[in-house]
Amino acid sequence: MDQNNESSSLAGVRHVILVLSGKGGVGKSTITAELALALRHAGKKVGILDVDLCGPSIPRMLSATRRDVHQCDSGWVPVYADAEKSLALMSVGFLLDDPDEAVVWRGPKKTAMIGQFVSDVAWGELDVLLVDTPPGTSDEHLAILENLKKLKVADGAVLVTTPQAVSTGDVRREATFCKKTGLRILGIVENMSGFVCPHCSECSNIFSKGGGEELAKLTGCPFLGCVPLDPQLSASLEQGKDFLKSFPDSATFSAIS
Ligand code: ADP
Repeated sequence: MDQNNESSSLAGVRHVILVLSGKGGVGKSTITAELALALRHAGKKVGILDVDLCGPSIPRMLSATRRDVHQCDSGWVPVYADAEKSLALMSVGFLLDDPDEAVVWRGPKKTAMIGQFVSDVAWGELDVLLVDTPPGTSDEHLAILENLKKLKVADGAVLVTTPQAVSTGDVRREATFCKKTGLRILGIVENMSGFVCPHCSECSNIFSKGGGEELAKLTGCPFLGCVPLDPQLSASLEQGKDFLKSFPDSATFSAIS
């Protein structure tokens, strides 16, 4: 472990993985939440740091809205999404008086908040910390990367795209950002990749197919797989339910696990 990290609040965290997307609405928070649940089901201790300051959706997706962050001697205690305390969350959503309040902050305030998230959260021992980021390459990305780089703890990034060119084009820019900032790309996930009709089981490629895999070849990054458009996944996220627990026999379950 790096010397700088020994006394930091991330000292007990084995791996830090950022989840990035070029566009909003492609399922970055969905993939972050489901990855966390899949890792938890595999017996790992997981954390999610939600640095999507203007659109924090992790608390709602994991049924942890209206929860408060408390202070302890070593910093902010994360909110736990489960009784076993194996899924720890930190999000600006927990710090707002009203969850519907709009976060209208300029860059320096966002940078300061992210600095605090990195230095002040008492994560304890975690196998993996996933960082959910806003779309694009903004102040939040630079702030989180600068802070993680100081501690030399960022393992790399998972890039999320939908299959169509308008999304893969943005992810290509995201890949360039990773290369410029020296962040390793762990792989690309194609989300909303086909829709299997629950009645006739025919698969319709609503947003075309294969864009993620093609992009992986183009950028020389590993392709991690496809997650289909699944109404049950969407409903589970709306209700803050654990999709992987509720639908263990679905094709989407296999794709995520
Ligand atoms: P982002 O973080 O990229 O802005 P979200 O993860 O918030 O995107 O997803 C946007 C919407 O799409 C959410 O309502 C989510 O429930 C839905 N969604 C994402 N991926 C899927 C999927 N594979 N199947 C069904 N709905 C999905």
